[in-house]
Amino acid sequence: MYRTHHCGELKIENVNENITLSGWVQKIRKLGGMTFIDLRDRYGITQLVFDLEKNTKLAEAATKLGREFVIKAEGKVVERSSKNPDMQTGDIEIIVEKLEIIKASETPPFTIEDESDGGEELRMKYRYLDIRRNPVRNALILRHKVSKAVRDYLDSKEFIEAETPYLIKSTPEGARDFVVPSRLSPGSFYALPQSPQVFKQLFMVGGLDRYYQIVKCFRDEDFRADRQPEFTQIDCEMSFVTQDDVIKMFSEMAKYIFKTIKGIEFEGDFPIMSYEEAINTYGSDKPDLRFGMKIHQLNSVTQNRGFKVFDDAEYVGGICVEGASNYSRKQLDKLIDFVKKPQIGAKGLIYAKYNEDGTFKSSVDKFYSQEDLKEWAKVFDAKPGDLLLVISGEKSNSLNALNELRLEMGDRLGLRKKDNFVPLWVVDFPLLEWDEDSKRFHAMHHPFTSPKAEDLELMDTAPGKVRANAYDFVVNGVEVGGGSIRIYDNELQHKMFDLLGFTPEESEAQFGFLMEAFKYGAPPHGGAAFGLDRWVALLNGSDSIRDVIAFPKNNTGRDIMIDAPAPIDNAQLNDLNLKISPTT
Ligand code: ASP
Repeated sequence: MYRTHHCGELKIENVNENITLSGWVQKIRKLGGMTFIDLRDRYGITQLVFDLEKNTKLAEAATKLGREFVIKAEGKVVERSSKNPDMQTGDIEIIVEKLEIIKASETPPFTIEDESDGGEELRMKYRYLDIRRNPVRNALILRHKVSKAVRDYLDSKEFIEAETPYLIKSTPEGARDFVVPSRLSPGSFYALPQSPQVFKQLFMVGGLDRYYQIVKCFRDEDFRADRQPEFTQIDCEMSFVTQDDVIKMFSEMAKYIFKTIKGIEFEGDFPIMSYEEAINTYGSDKPDLRFGMKIHQLNSVTQNRGFKVFDDAEYVGGICVEGASNYSRKQLDKLIDFVKKPQIGAKGLIYAKYNEDGTFKSSVDKFYSQEDLKEWAKVFDAKPGDLLLVISGEKSNSLNALNELRLEMGDRLGLRKKDNFVPLWVVDFPLLEWDEDSKRFHAMHHPFTSPKAEDLELMDTAPGKVRANAYDFVVNGVEVGGGSIRIYDNELQHKMFDLLGFTPEESEAQFGFLMEAFKYGAPPHGGAAFGLDRWVALLNGSDSIRDVIAFPKNNTGRDIMIDAPAPIDNAQLNDLNLKISPTT
């Protein structure tokens, strides 16, 4: 028998019991004639004691153990003289009577402690060791709990968990496909699903009514901080629903998750904000509502004072940072550098300090009088002591930069607390997005998203203005999920494909099966998908989804533990009818 108890279990009630524990050696300490070992398993740590005087041989054996050795220890539970209230098992220790080394260990490449000395890449290479650390193991346990809460909630609402295939034909979610060559059909490829989108719609045509799946999705995207080439979605679809029905169902799911996992109860409905409002007031379609600092447009109060930069700008706007009028020259210079970074892209930053004495000091005093600056302050509803930060230029670029600046200031002022959760829905997204490079429209969500009934006429006259029945669920500036009410009418779906630049032949070749299905009585349907990794990262207080994925890829898409992707040998290439052309 390897163990009678686990390492997080023994309490004062167990004193005098003879027990057996197995686990990993976390730490060895020698104090005079005594040797103490912290024995660790998934459940906790128990202190083992070896007394040189009482059992010399055993105590000497104990000093020969190394970190991460797997051992079995038999002994008696005794009460500790100096108790450790921070430890689950801190009231007791084990006087070891028999010790067995089950498996020795090499010295691990980094310390298996909460704060490890190993960098992220090293820990990824030895992820199985990283998983022994509390932060990683706890993240995986949290992930399990979130998945379970999701399953419990959806099961209670009659959702059926059904699987969909991984070897399919392309699903357009806006990224590149990962492809898998077919041996049996030389020259042909499967695509890995970017999401089960089309299949879940076909489940609705199949009358399943409510479907969900916790499922892997694959998207070949260029590196972005919070992306992984494979990630997990909570994918859902419902029949006979409107946008309001879907929002209600998944607001309740979110509340259930917050309650079950964090014990947080939300009263009332989550706010619903239009895309337009989100962009104009936060510069982002995923606003972080943990703090205010809204963006205000200033064109009307900045014109015709001889300041050409503002006069010529399509957009002038800014934020008001409460209580920051004492920002030093150096601090302001840092902010100017920040907004000028290429990924933020502003040309510059104008500031106006609203001093405590009611006067103003700005970087454009040459052009704007105290009266003028007072007008600016009015737009923001600013008070003495506040700092106004203003950016100008092309509208969407400026809003984008203001969003980044707002988040930066939120961070600096400590307004983005990880344990404060502020969810909202963003709705009324544009159906289509113009792409300058390809000179055509792209679906903002995906091609199966329906236009708003009241905007249908615009499909012919001003497609860029059509709003979609699409919605995103956003928490603390993170897009946790999104979905739409779908097109279920062939004619409209064809029109959409047409607007997206598919010829009838192309749409037939790619989605003929869906068009065919819609001929046989398709119910109105809609759904959403939520990023499980993002949900868990958020609840775990992690900045990166890598922290909550068991075996993540690094930021160039490599699995550095198993060393993938990797070349395949010629025999395999021949089997697949593939030839690799030399890279230039
Ligand atoms: N398939 C969509 C996505 O992966 C979600 C949805 O529309 O349900 O983003």
